[in-house]
Amino acid sequence: MNDDWNNKELKASVEAYVEMQRNERAGQLIVKKQYYNKLAQRFGRSEKAFERGMQNISYVLSLMGRSWLTGVRPAKNVDADVADQIERLLAKLEGQKAVTRTAFGIAVREEARQKNLSKPNGNPSPKFRRVMITQFQREAAVEAWVLQQAAGICECCEKPAPFNGADGLPYLELHYVRQLTEGGPDAVSNAVALCPNCHREIHYGLNAQALSAWLYDNIARLIRD
Ligand SMILES: [Zn+2]
Ligand SMILES: [Zn+2]
Repeated sequence: MNDDWNNKELKASVEAYVEMQRNERAGQLIVKKQYYNKLAQRFGRSEKAFERGMQNISYVLSLMGRSWLTGVRPAKNVDADVADQIERLLAKLEGQKAVTRTAFGIAVREEARQKNLSKPNGNPSPKFRRVMITQFQREAAVEAWVLQQAAGICECCEKPAPFNGADGLPYLELHYVRQLTEGGPDAVSNAVALCPNCHREIHYGLNAQALSAWLYDNIARLIRD
């Protein structure tokens, strides 16, 4: 998937991806090959091309810290412009304004792959721009209860919080196993208290899916829905 994919093809791919994810969450059997086949027929590319396209979408989602479709491993090299387009299409489907950030992440990775980078001068006064963000109105009671249940122990690695916060309490972060942006409820049946390491890993790590599955299997109050 590179620049010569037109917007229609990308849009159809993102829509198919989101539909597969929705169906997978609903516990329905999804036949990915059927989706690829339909797209291949519609746009005159191979099924394989669309399969790779889906891996690009997984990669963009992984850079966004979002969950990706089971079995569709994130691609390693995604063109920054394509990633930017995918991110915009995802935001549009979710009815949100896109504040795209994956292109930056990709630029960093591309640079970091080069040998012997020269030391950059940086910018003493970086410019800024104002952006609109969508914030969910969460209930304090949910977070408070979950933190109390965790009692200072990360519910994922089961180790004590690595440090105390400025308030003197063990520092843990609330995580929604099914993210609110993905339609997850603000409820204790969907929330866990994690140490910062586990929290990052469950959003950005290669084993994010396995960690989520482990939480569902080991924390009785969690409900998959
Ligand atoms: Zn942990
Ligand atoms: Zn989280």
